[in-house]
Order: sequence, then structure tokens, then C-alpha cells
Amino acid sequence: MTLLKTKIKNVINLANSLVGGDNGLGDNNRLIFNNDNGFPVGKNNGFFVTVAIAIIAIIAIVVETRHALSLQQLQQQQLQRQQRQRQRRQQQRPQYSNLAMIMFLVISLSSPLMAQTGFDADRAFDDLVAQCDLGTREPNSAGAAVALKFYQEILEPLADEIHLQNFKYDDPYADRKLDLTNIIARFQPEKSERIILCAHWDTRPRAEYDKYFPKKPIIGANDGASGVAVLLEIARQLKEAPVNPGIDIILFDGEDYGAPGDLQYYLIGSRYYVDHPLHPLPRQVILLDMIGDANLTIKIDPVSYQSAPRVMEEIWAIAAEIGYDQFQFVPGASMYDDHVPFIEKGIPAIDLIDFEYPGPDNQYWHTHDDTVDKCSPESLEAVGNVVLSWLYRQ
Ligand SMILES: [Zn+2]
Repeated sequence: MTLLKTKIKNVINLANSLVGGDNGLGDNNRLIFNNDNGFPVGKNNGFFVTVAIAIIAIIAIVVETRHALSLQQLQQQQLQRQQRQRQRRQQQRPQYSNLAMIMFLVISLSSPLMAQTGFDADRAFDDLVAQCDLGTREPNSAGAAVALKFYQEILEPLADEIHLQNFKYDDPYADRKLDLTNIIARFQPEKSERIILCAHWDTRPRAEYDKYFPKKPIIGANDGASGVAVLLEIARQLKEAPVNPGIDIILFDGEDYGAPGDLQYYLIGSRYYVDHPLHPLPRQVILLDMIGDANLTIKIDPVSYQSAPRVMEEIWAIAAEIGYDQFQFVPGASMYDDHVPFIEKGIPAIDLIDFEYPGPDNQYWHTHDDTVDKCSPESLEAVGNVVLSWLYRQ
């Protein structure tokens, strides 16, 4: 109301100046105001003109205020609509059995509080940055050739065996062969009970969701470098403190090669591996992908949950014990990722992935915004610590 009164007073002052002494109409046309309350105490020929202007102005102010109000109401209605849509979407998501939830709670509450592992998040983050510094790492690129050497140099002194699985692949989008390489670092290769930890090291040859340069390859700080960075640091930890099962750390090539919709040209390296595996086969596969997002939220991939529900519950329970709320035991998107070829061969496999980069609209995904500054050591630490803690319990 105070604002409205001030506005009215301004309008009357304006009107006064219009019909006032300087307007050439002379003193007769002056409107005299009582200075205390701003209302006229005398009138002359200009009075009616002033009042008319003032009334029109007041109507304009009232209409403007009502318009602002109705805009606010519209925004509120839109918010309510979005909230209702969210609720509806949540209701449509697959429901998990009460038994699963109870098991999750029992595991969370019954285990002792976890000690932190030796996982060095800063060193892992340095590896994330170092990969990006090599340039884009899509198949047949200069960056890929250098990256391959970079991984070998780190893994060779840590692992008991290194295997480079080189193979050729017909490029579906050009008249050439792709030279692809899966890197396999084996720990305690003599052990028959094995677990595969994997990530893809290739980066995408295009950025289809980028507004400006959709055809250029991406740097892949999160989509590529993050999973590898955590695995390189886990390799250092395994060298220091081996776990009970034998571990195969595999960095897959050609995960992200396909154009949108061409599912057959994704997961090239992992598909090749399941057809040419090193034996013995693993009892469990854990895939890390897009886990560097500074705003990390890892939800349950329904495909993984169907494949290995118990392992998913154990991992989320460990995260809850340590206090990493980045792991949320709620259903997320269904993933078509490097775990799928294993599941198709009957091997339990799960994907730890944050498909909300940085939020539910996933707006940095497959764009040139997928850069180092969008990732954080804390996110790598949460995933590294949880996976290592799970391994130490096997
Ligand atoms: Zn991708």
C-alpha cells in the first residue's frame, strides 16, 4: 500500500509540473497543493486536466499490479503442476519389495561403523585431470594413443599381469578400421574366485546434445575419465593391501562410439571381452561410469538390481554406514552400459552410475560441458571408498 501511495503522489507531482508555472499557461493554470498531504487545496483551469491524468495513471498502476499478481499466480500454478508430475513419475517407477528394503535396513544397522580405506581422492582426481589433459580419447585419435601408454605406465608396476586386448572393428560411420584396445590388469591371477572392476576409457567422438559443436569429440571428464581415475587409485590400494578374491581391473574401449539410437555400435570393447574372456570368469562385475559429477547422486539402476540385488543392497548399506548420502537407494534410469554384455552371458553385473549430470535433466551429458570443473575429488572418494570397503568384506 505504501508503494501505491508513493506512486500516486509521484503521478500527482508529475501532473502538477505538466500544468504548472513552466508550461506557458500562466499562474491561473497552476494547481496549488497542500504540502503536508499532497492533495490539492485550490483549483483552477488546469485542475481537471491534472485529475484526469492522475486517474488514468492510477488505473494503469492498478492494472500493472494486478498483472504482476497474476504472473506470480501463474508461476505458482506451474510449480504445482511440476510437483504433481514429479509425484506421478515417482509412482510409475518400479516398486521394490518390502523384503529388499528391510534387508537393506538390517544390513545398514547391524554392521559396525566402517573405517575409511586408504583411497587417495586427490591422487585419483589428478588422474582424472591428467587424462583430460591428453585431449579427447575417441578411437583412432592421437589422444587415445597417448592415453593407452598413460594407463599402462600406471598399471604395470601395480598389477601382477597386464593384458592388452587389441582388436580391429569396422567403423560403421567411415570407410576405415578402428583400432580398439581393452586393458586388463590382473591381481592374484592364480585365484579362481574373481571379481571384475571396470570402466570405459574411450571418450565420445561427438557431442550430440551440445548447442554449438555437436560434431566435435568430447573431453569426457565425467563420461570416461572419472571411472578410470577411481580404478587406477583402487589398483594402487590393491597393491598395498590385497583383498581375498582375485581382481581384474578392465578398462574398456569403444563404449561410447555409437550414434544416438545405434545401440549395436555401443559397448564394443565389453562385447568383445565377453566373447574373448580371460579365465576364470568372475563371480561379479562392478562397472563405474560417470561417477565424477561434483553433484553426485547414484541411484539404483533397475537393470543392475535385477542382475545382483544383494550386491546392490550391500553397496548402498556400506555407503550409508560411512555416511555418503550421494548413494540414494531409490530407482534411477535403466542403463544400457558395459555391464549388459556380462548380464547377457549370465554373469551378475552392476553399474554404479550418476545419470543426473549435474541434475535430473542430465544437461552436461554428451556436451562440451563435460569438463574437469564439473567433477570433484569428493565424488571420486565416495565411490572409491565404498567399492574398496565392499571388496575388503569379500
Ligand atoms: Zn557416454
